Amino acid sequence: MTGNEQKYIAEAFAGNWIAPVGENIDEFENEIAEYTGAKGAVAVSSGTAAIHLALSLLNIKRGDTVFCSSLTFVATANPIVYQGAEPVFIDSEPDTWNMSPLALEKALHYAFLDGKLPKAVIIVNLYGQSAKYDELLTLCHHYGVPVIEDAAESLGSSYKGISSGTFGDFGIYSFNGNKIITTSGGGMLVSDDLAALDKVRYLATQARDPAIHYQHSVVGFNYRMSNILAGIGRGQLQAIEKRVTARRNIFDYYKEQLSPLPGVYFMPELNVSRTNRWLTALTINQKEAGVTSNQILKMLIKHNIEARPVWKPLHMQPLFKGHKHFSHFEKESLSEQLFHTGICLPSGSNLTSSEQMRVINYVKESFEEALNKEGIV
Ligand SMILES: *Cc1c(COP(=O)(O)O)cnc(C)c1O
Repeated sequence: MTGNEQKYIAEAFAGNWIAPVGENIDEFENEIAEYTGAKGAVAVSSGTAAIHLALSLLNIKRGDTVFCSSLTFVATANPIVYQGAEPVFIDSEPDTWNMSPLALEKALHYAFLDGKLPKAVIIVNLYGQSAKYDELLTLCHHYGVPVIEDAAESLGSSYKGISSGTFGDFGIYSFNGNKIITTSGGGMLVSDDLAALDKVRYLATQARDPAIHYQHSVVGFNYRMSNILAGIGRGQLQAIEKRVTARRNIFDYYKEQLSPLPGVYFMPELNVSRTNRWLTALTINQKEAGVTSNQILKMLIKHNIEARPVWKPLHMQPLFKGHKHFSHFEKESLSEQLFHTGICLPSGSNLTSSEQMRVINYVKESFEEALNKEGIV
């Protein structure tokens, strides 16, 4: 927490607005819109809820298909299933690890010939890194398919100087506890289509028709953010630039210390984009490194350091068994390779340099241990 959160919470208490309406919500929405350059924003209970509302607004229903990045957290795709629609998973490309324009083109072409284009494409900005929107949006516009940008991890990032989350017809952010700013749990849906956002507000508050009695014509949700949590969000948003700087510095220090090791490749950054480096991610080429990503993870976990593989691609999840996957390469899937070789290192904005040095030393130690076992040293 930054300190200012309590001030906004106190204001909500003083005004007795302990409800999913109130000044903090209105202001948090205005502040996010202003910060990102979106025309409008709707504060909701989670990033997942924001995706669900966008799909619901686009009238996605049973029998429809929705394309979705494969290398992501399950929350990107779950709302597709809530709507009864079928997710089709699109592979990553090497420059950003995000949705491959090549794989998307294959998938759209296939769907077009099949006479069944997707009703939406959900594009994820992984670990803060923006996807290649020039190429991806050209394809989606060509086929007339709306885009939902899952910017849950990329608030504070930009692509060609424009804020991450504002490239799709709808963009979503998450304020879950692990994200770059948090309200403990919460999310935001942004768009330039203000009429659509009014409809989102309606859907998020049980779809109550404008009548004095309680009247409902469509199914709605109870998805609004609390005025208390919006107060936390306002305090947090004031710290976003500092946090982006902190996380980028963490990334740079890991890179400086670990990239001299053989076979270590850090997640790249497009020269036209600036990532918030939500998490520092890298891959290990086992042949060059002499050690696997798993051995490094084991070393870190043994010393009580929380590190993880990169997201397990959704097309590999038991939950989505049998769903289509379009890969970047002819025969191999890049997201599968990234999963098998990738590591996310501790990257919290408040990580101290001595804590970070501890992580670095254990990564180095796992390389030495592997060398010793081979009897080279
Ligand atoms: C965290 C996250 C979500 C879900 O956000 P919640 O606020 O936790 O519901 C969706 N997509 C991605 C890529 C995420 O990292």
